[in-house]
Amino acid sequence: MSSYSSLPVSRFEKLNLLGEGTYGSVFRARDKESGEIVALKKIRISSKEKSGGGGGFPLTSLREVSLLRYVHHPHIVELRHIAVGRKMDSIFLVFEHLQYDLADLLDRMSRPFTESETKTLMLQLLSAVNFLHQNFIVHRDLKLSNLLLDAKGRLKLADFGLARQFSNPLKAMTPKVVTLWYRAPELLLGTDKYHSAVDMWAVGCIFGELLRHRPLLPGKTELSQLALICDLLGSPNEKIWPGFTELHRMSGAAGDGDGGEPLSLPAQPYNNLSHQFSHLTEAGLDLLSRLLTYDPSKRITASKALNHPYFLEEPKPIPTELMPRFAPATIHTTTPTTAAAGNESVSAIPTSEAGSRSMYSNMSGMHPSSSTSLAASSTAIPPVGPVVSSSKKRKHESIV
Ligand code: ADP
Ligand code: MG
Repeated sequence: MSSYSSLPVSRFEKLNLLGEGTYGSVFRARDKESGEIVALKKIRISSKEKSGGGGGFPLTSLREVSLLRYVHHPHIVELRHIAVGRKMDSIFLVFEHLQYDLADLLDRMSRPFTESETKTLMLQLLSAVNFLHQNFIVHRDLKLSNLLLDAKGRLKLADFGLARQFSNPLKAMTPKVVTLWYRAPELLLGTDKYHSAVDMWAVGCIFGELLRHRPLLPGKTELSQLALICDLLGSPNEKIWPGFTELHRMSGAAGDGDGGEPLSLPAQPYNNLSHQFSHLTEAGLDLLSRLLTYDPSKRITASKALNHPYFLEEPKPIPTELMPRFAPATIHTTTPTTAAAGNESVSAIPTSEAGSRSMYSNMSGMHPSSSTSLAASSTAIPPVGPVVSSSKKRKHESIV
């Protein structure tokens, strides 16, 4: 689809808030005409932009729309329409709706994904990322909360707010991209000439997080992020990453208010990946270390990662239709009144529905071979346990 119909947002009945991200609120909504459930992403327009000072439509949303127009792939979320409210300050992107995001799911699962499940998720992610990179698009915000999963075990990549096309030769772009925990070392060290390899680092962090069931490198500041990376992989040096000492922050050339002092990284000589992932096979460790490779020019590409022997060895990736099923995603208890863009009506979730979907009271869990809708299912096997960490933590660990 190369052009989008623009619809009045009154055609959609808002049901509940799905997520409140960096750039806008996302609602679950029903298309009153087709009855279809969709996700409405409200575009946040700052007052400066409203008054014309910032040029109107925010850049992130403009990028999201313009890229998604051309990006159609089974593992990339589909933009269906653009909807407008009566006022120009309410514009919504209308997406197909998927039941879960992986950040929420991981927080709610009492056990990690198995290796077979992880392989299936990784292959789907890699196929989306490969497609983007083949089309010279870098996503720049790969993380679990931007990976959606449907009830049939299909993963789709979402949130193209930071995505950009890159060119050859590379043009300067801001290094302040990618949520800290997933941010590649070249970005942390201030490079402005980067490319698809930043996404592959993030894929490595996601791989580690899926295997470990907790974030791989949860830094709090850029410096602590670098320290965690050095802890896990050993400190970089000119031998393994030629030219890294000339990057802005290593040479003290960064004009970012840090006084221009060259950064000194902790001296840590050991790579601890094999200790941290002692259960992983040689092939698994090889893939993980090729993703988490310091030198971006040596980091594995998505197309090579897709063909990595890890995916061919036992345990094999599980067919998507056999992926575990989960209880419906949490219904946020916050009634999205303020987010309801003034003149648009918002339906609060009926108390009974909210209650029946409560995250802890009625976690129905997985039904590996069942085709029944989980929402309707009463025979629940409960592998989804109490929350182990806050999804908000994962989700809102945003760009700094
Ligand atoms: P932001 O730029 O604000 O992070 P996202 O597009 O990532 O925006 O959306 C925020 C959250 O909303 C996601 O993490 C996810 O939980 C939820 N979400 C977004 N799109 C969809 C969708 N198509 N289906 C279901 N949930 C979605
Ligand atoms: Mg997001």
